[in-house]
Amino acid sequence: ECETMELIMESRSENEEFARVVAAVFASRLDPTLEELDDIKTAVSEAVTNAVIHGYRGQEGKIYLSATAWEKERLFSVTVRDEGVGIRDVEQAMEPMFTTCPEDGRSGMGFSFMEAFMDRVEVVSAPGKGTSVTMKK
Ligand code: ATP
Ligand code: MG
Repeated sequence: ECETMELIMESRSENEEFARVVAAVFASRLDPTLEELDDIKTAVSEAVTNAVIHGYRGQEGKIYLSATAWEKERLFSVTVRDEGVGIRDVEQAMEPMFTTCPEDGRSGMGFSFMEAFMDRVEVVSAPGKGTSVTMKK
């Protein structure tokens, strides 16, 4: 038995906060600790930020947030997807401190935070098609 939610929003930095709050409220039904909720918020925020600044590079586009909660197992899965530029080398992109935007003051730690705060992170991406990041806890 599981429950799901889906949300489609514009690629705007204001939606980083919106998405993380929605994900946290949805995850609340699993009765998480405050620390677990904070982890989910941080991870979702990093993924949505990446979709806005890297995926769409400030251009207009849609960001798709979806989540599943398995109440009995107390498992949570959240996916952040964009239809932006995509990632050529996912393995390299996920390395700590790898960034394609050092001049913007990016530290290349977004994926590392997602991996640190969630139990599993799966990235599917294709150049020109977009990126999908699924995180489980
Ligand atoms: P930070 O998150 O520390 O501000 P960052 O965003 O560059 O810096 P990561 O979040 O780890 O670091 O992402 C690493 C790199 O992966 C990015 O620099 C970018 O090139 C690429 N990337 C990440 N997410 C996407 C995305 N949704 N679409 C296209 N490229 C992406
Ligand atoms: Mg990032």
